[in-house]
Amino acid sequence: MPGVSMLTAGLKSEPMIPRPILLPLLLSIVIHAMSASAQDKGSVDAKPLPPLANPSDPKIGAKELFARKLLPAAMPTKVLGSYVKGCIAGAEQMPITGNTWQVMRLSRNRYWGHPDTIALLKRLSVKAHRDAGWPGILIGDIAQPRGGPALTGHASHQIGLDADIWLTPMPDHLLSREEREEMSAVMMVREDRLDIDPKVFTPGHVLVLRDAAQEPGVQRIFVNPAIKKALCREAKGDRSWLAKIRPWYGHDYHFHIRMACPPGASECKGQPDQGGGEGCGAKDLAYWFKDKILHPEPPKEPPKPRTGPTLAQLPAACKQVLNAPDAKQQHRDRDGVLIPSQLPLK
Ligand SMILES: [Zn+2]
Repeated sequence: MPGVSMLTAGLKSEPMIPRPILLPLLLSIVIHAMSASAQDKGSVDAKPLPPLANPSDPKIGAKELFARKLLPAAMPTKVLGSYVKGCIAGAEQMPITGNTWQVMRLSRNRYWGHPDTIALLKRLSVKAHRDAGWPGILIGDIAQPRGGPALTGHASHQIGLDADIWLTPMPDHLLSREEREEMSAVMMVREDRLDIDPKVFTPGHVLVLRDAAQEPGVQRIFVNPAIKKALCREAKGDRSWLAKIRPWYGHDYHFHIRMACPPGASECKGQPDQGGGEGCGAKDLAYWFKDKILHPEPPKEPPKPRTGPTLAQLPAACKQVLNAPDAKQQHRDRDGVLIPSQLPLK
């Protein structure tokens, strides 16, 4: 079994769940995590979602409402609720191309985050270039323009403080729209799932993960257990950052950065800092390499699709965020030309 802190603190989708219902829940998370992952392909001509027949139906999943908002709320920046049940007002756009980063899967429109998250990603991309010699980083999902639950993929990523970064280094050229939708990420874990694949997981990866974990605003980082094992083996010098790196299901093509609530964000419900050391002891990792965890039995019945939280189950202020007018956001492309947000995908 993993330590209690790992269960309570590392559980990506519901960090505060009592233990008896944890196992079925874990299974359902695994299955859902498999059904839509960072490496899933998108499309350059994705169709807009059809309008809802009855958007004010109180039973409708909040994900249906938030997924239909194409721009942030024209409100001051505010984080409301938790990573798995919340939303964000006044989110900022991650520019889709910088000198040391490119955003992937643009059709998902999940390149919005808290300004601190956007600043962190830019900073980390420069460090990845400097320390690992990567041309830059590839950025996956951050959050929807107003956060909230998403139609596919994550249970978290709802308040603009979670971000997925590909473990594939950025190529040295500008990716086309098609490449950003269709390029595959590289699997970092060996076929037997017991360790990383040394042909693709390099010392540069150790440095990029270290740089991310050493950022003070970063509270935890999720990686595949095989990657955690490799980091424990390879990390040199100061190893205190290893405490923030948490083994979790999936996360073998990308890693997931979770930031703490920003200072003063009184309506942001964060998670307690995890105590404990590096998490590199045999006991810390044994659970993850059990056969039944590495090769779980398929479920007897297909899992029921989840509706997820309704609008009433999110913090009350998320209703205002949802109903606020669109922010008139603009960003600059790599040449400094201002692009209205309505056109970020061209
Ligand atoms: Zn993630």
